[in-house]
Amino acid sequence: MALEGGCFCGKVRYRADDHTESVAHCHCKHCRASSGATLMTWVEVPRASFAWTAEPPAAHQHDSDWPTEITRAFCGECGTSLTYERADSEFLDVSVGSLDDPASVSPAHHVYIDSKIPWLEMGDDLPRHARGRPESR
Ligand SMILES: [Zn+2]
Ligand SMILES: [Zn+2]
Repeated sequence: MALEGGCFCGKVRYRADDHTESVAHCHCKHCRASSGATLMTWVEVPRASFAWTAEPPAAHQHDSDWPTEITRAFCGECGTSLTYERADSEFLDVSVGSLDDPASVSPAHHVYIDSKIPWLEMGDDLPRHARGRPESR
């Protein structure tokens, strides 16, 4: 099912014609630092199915414990966090909070649970992974 979304101010928009069922709540320190939120929820999208449809985003590159660089795209105007991309992956992650309809996808698991803020309580039974998604990251 196609997903559409964009930033708070509306300057940056995207469309993804496909996505996987891997929707992850990420508790890593990099998601926290780059968003200012206590966790980020991401839906995994095949790179080939994703396109920016309005103004291009701004981007920030950083290192992590992955061997390749991470690129995080955000709106240069209003700052909304939009995508997370690893150079060596055929998938990218789209922030569920930036979807036009966030309820159209369902969380499947928690990742980087070891970095979760201790006071953040989660009342779900979803699988919890110490690091990234078990299958791809
Ligand atoms: Zn914006
Ligand atoms: Zn993260």
